[in-house]
Amino acid sequence: MSVSPKIQLQQLVDLQKVDDQIFEHKKALADIPHQLDSARSELEEKKRVLKIVTEEIAALQKQRKDLELEVQGENDHMAKAKTKLPAVKTNKEYTAILTEVDTVKERVSKVEDKELEIMEILEVKAKEIPGVEKKCKEEDIYFNEYRQKKETEEKRFKGELEELVVKRKNIADELETVILKRYQKISDSREGGAVAGLQGDICQGCFQHVLPQMVIEIKVGEKIHQCANCLSFLFWDEVPETSVPK
Ligand SMILES: [Zn+2]
Repeated sequence: MSVSPKIQLQQLVDLQKVDDQIFEHKKALADIPHQLDSARSELEEKKRVLKIVTEEIAALQKQRKDLELEVQGENDHMAKAKTKLPAVKTNKEYTAILTEVDTVKERVSKVEDKELEIMEILEVKAKEIPGVEKKCKEEDIYFNEYRQKKETEEKRFKGELEELVVKRKNIADELETVILKRYQKISDSREGGAVAGLQGDICQGCFQHVLPQMVIEIKVGEKIHQCANCLSFLFWDEVPETSVPK
């Protein structure tokens, strides 16, 4: 193969560019499930709050029902005690029954106070429900939109990635095997960045000076060089005039 060093270097630059894009795409694709997980946990948190409030209300309603039954039981007890009154023979018996009735009345009053207390709490809790439900609904809508957006994104990234892989293969096929292998080795060892620009005599991969002779050869493009320090393939990266400090 007699491809000029200049062209080969350009191919390396192109390969690096495509590899960078492939890396970014893979990273973005790997991030999507995590992004969805964290959005889903937000929704689940809202649903959890709603469930807690609903359960609290149900528990209070059951408590209230139990108290109602208790009152009913006490009232039955009282009615039964009163039926004994006509058969009473002594004053002592009479007083005993009245005392019993009074005790029951007292208990009923206490239970009814408790019931009232619960009803007040229930009222407050019930007022929380619409707000919590609203938040839940909003989060549900938001999550579904977000998921759709992410699914579309995923599809697009996958399509683009396929194209990039083809593009990469085409570039790699053009490269000399030795160069490609060297590129791959460097790339694998540091997860990308096998090609670096040379600005002045500074390698942009490691910011070390490069020998003057090498600088000239890279600038002319007559040889393929790697940085002696970081092994990056070096290409001449002209510094724009405006960014050169005076
Ligand atoms: Zn370097």
